[in-house]
Amino acid sequence: MAEHLASIFGTEKDRVNCPFYFKIGACRHGDRCSRLHNRPTISPTLLLSNMYQRPDMITPGVDAQGQPISAETLQSHFEDFFEDIFEELGKFGEIETLNVCDNLADHMIGNVYVQFREEDQAAAALGALQGRFYSGRPIIADFSPVTDFREATCRQFEEESCNRGGYCNFMHVKMIGRELRRKLFGRFHNSRRPMRSKSRSRSRSPRPLRRERERERERDYEPRGRDRRHEDGGGRGGRRRSRSPPSAREGSEERRARIEQWNREREGKM
Ligand SMILES: [Zn+2]
Ligand SMILES: [Zn+2]
Repeated sequence: MAEHLASIFGTEKDRVNCPFYFKIGACRHGDRCSRLHNRPTISPTLLLSNMYQRPDMITPGVDAQGQPISAETLQSHFEDFFEDIFEELGKFGEIETLNVCDNLADHMIGNVYVQFREEDQAAAALGALQGRFYSGRPIIADFSPVTDFREATCRQFEEESCNRGGYCNFMHVKMIGRELRRKLFGRFHNSRRPMRSKSRSRSRSPRPLRRERERERERDYEPRGRDRRHEDGGGRGGRRRSRSPPSAREGSEERRARIEQWNREREGKM
């Protein structure tokens, strides 16, 4: 019996525990869900709810002033955000995964999932995020039950064939370009390994599959405009370089300034 319960835990057959909360860390029913959301008291993963706000959130492809925004501008806005978050949270420990949702439903839009290597790193980050603001909005952070992102992400979206679009209940993970991925994740793989992992072999990740998948994503990803799912016929083979040049992106000084602002906003609240 216990074995049976264990095998259905967090699945559709489980009438007690909510499978969406268990797998994706977010459920559209929120606190009114008829099944249990077992909030972890500790986890290596944090969810920062609705944190990323795309510049064309009111009308796709158009900014708040009604001006059209190019796919390159949208992507570089997102990558600046990603880098901000990565640098800020990376202070607390090694980041294994940083996923930002492209979903549109209220319970998933702009959700940021960060998985640290260790639970206490996540706990330290969570403590530091309490009461902080980003871009004028309070950061809502919590431990998340998600530790296996393979289970949480939408495979069809990765294959550009999800017909549920932005209202899909699985994560549609926004991609960053390979340069930024290498810059951010590469450094952890080289220089910043924690002391205690010294004795471990190179294959220290307990989940090599995920890394493999990330490498595949990296290989496949070319910015192709926001609605790349519906674009076809272009072929996937070309080495198109459509990203704006580095000079068009915000300089690191500006980013520093914004992080400083985070801290000031935080102090102002305390
Ligand atoms: Zn639920
Ligand atoms: Zn989907």
